Amino acid sequence: MLKTFVGCAAVNFRLGRPAGFQPEAIVIHIGEGSLRSIDMQFNDPNARVSAHYCVSKSGDIRQYVDEKDTAFHAGTIDQPNWSGLKPGKTPGTFINPNFYTIGIEHEGFADDPWPDAQLATSAALVGEIAQRWKIPLDEVHVIRHHQIRFMKSCPGNVIKIADILGRIPSAAPAVTPAITSVKTINNLRVRAGSPSLGAPVVRTIPAQTMVAVDAVFLGDTVNGNNKWYSDGAGNFFWAGGTNQP
Ligand SMILES: [Zn+2]
Repeated sequence: MLKTFVGCAAVNFRLGRPAGFQPEAIVIHIGEGSLRSIDMQFNDPNARVSAHYCVSKSGDIRQYVDEKDTAFHAGTIDQPNWSGLKPGKTPGTFINPNFYTIGIEHEGFADDPWPDAQLATSAALVGEIAQRWKIPLDEVHVIRHHQIRFMKSCPGNVIKIADILGRIPSAAPAVTPAITSVKTINNLRVRAGSPSLGAPVVRTIPAQTMVAVDAVFLGDTVNGNNKWYSDGAGNFFWAGGTNQP
């Protein structure tokens, strides 16, 4: 599945998740804006909000936060109506749902119909995430933001969770990357955090080494090629340095 890694402002997410937490549910949002405005909001250090992904109306996927990190998308709890919400130590309180959820924004507004490309891509992304983290595909584990924060109608008045669940590709190959390993052709730098020449180099893989690939991203263009692979651990390397450019 092709994703464009955009990233977000450092204060708008938390590196990692608190000890003992991993994604257990997926929260569906509507961005109340254009893709560009959502990109800008998540990169505005005053916003203090983020999501892991946004799916555009045309079906493009943009990623802002690694799934292993904590996005700030559903931390405000107000009259919750979600059976998956984890209680806190004090009666009547809850653990911050951001610690154990993945947030997917969608371009558009609450009353917009979702174009087919947006619905199909969102469903495929939900299916892929669910497979990765072994999240059951039901309405307890794929939820509306509204179920955590009653005052927000998010993700709006049109889309139903059943619409998304009903469009998830059933076959495993649909959620498995076509390329699962590549061979390096040069000594290849592995960069942490984003598919970018500005990201820090964490190690160098020698030429002629087989490397497992988790996903394909669009990142910095090098010699006309903007394809990068990720290793599933938050690291990226340029596809042009491999036998699958
Ligand atoms: Zn929302």
